[in-house]
Amino acid sequence: MEKGYIHSIESLGTVDGPGVRTVVFLQGCVLRCRYCHNPDTWECNAGKAYTAKELFDRVIKFRPYFGSSGGITASGGEPLIQAKFLYEFFKLLKEAGVHTAIDTSGLINEHVKKLLTKTDLVLLDIKHTDPIEYKKLTGSDLIAPQKMHAYLIENNIPFWIRQVIVPGINDNIEQIKELAKYCIHAQKYELISYHTLGLNKWKKLNIPYTLEGVDPPSKELMTNLRTALKEEVNRLKTL
Ligand code: SF4
Repeated sequence: MEKGYIHSIESLGTVDGPGVRTVVFLQGCVLRCRYCHNPDTWECNAGKAYTAKELFDRVIKFRPYFGSSGGITASGGEPLIQAKFLYEFFKLLKEAGVHTAIDTSGLINEHVKKLLTKTDLVLLDIKHTDPIEYKKLTGSDLIAPQKMHAYLIENNIPFWIRQVIVPGINDNIEQIKELAKYCIHAQKYELISYHTLGLNKWKKLNIPYTLEGVDPPSKELMTNLRTALKEEVNRLKTL
């Protein structure tokens, strides 16, 4: 049976999806986001190996905390790299009536499509809306999240759009207006402040951190961008 490689488990998360959630951080990511706060999840076959049933048994005990709106979120790393394993895990969760969510940078293939049949919500991170800037920020192509976004809409799969705002990288109004196009069909959209809490991990892993000296965005900037995003989404919805 396929094993999953797990970095860590956060029992009572409140920011990765609705309600109180247990967040499972999976190993493996091919992106190299300059602000990544989990570079220790990048390696694929690291962490602790679990069968789907072992992982299910480990997390199901937190169910009393989920209430009516919480559940389990698979995060990472990029959890969809282990889509085959996640399908087995989510299948068990759905049989037990648990809400399932995936926090992803976006990826679509046959394994992911199958997994989405057992997924209640996708938290899709559109890191930048300009293809060139996206590549500079992540080392990867915008086409992957774009394809996933289109697939979610076509198949009526509920999703949220998220973006981490990094001053000097994606904190301009033009970028936010582009982002609004991704948000029209989203159940919810969120702008998240860049932070430097993962910096020590980069140092420990001896990887050069290229955003050294970039401060988190001010509260005022975040408020302005959130307002601009909301106005643009509402404007687009009336067209
Ligand atoms: S997609 Fe997530 S885990 Fe991967 S590099 Fe970017 S922030 Fe880090």
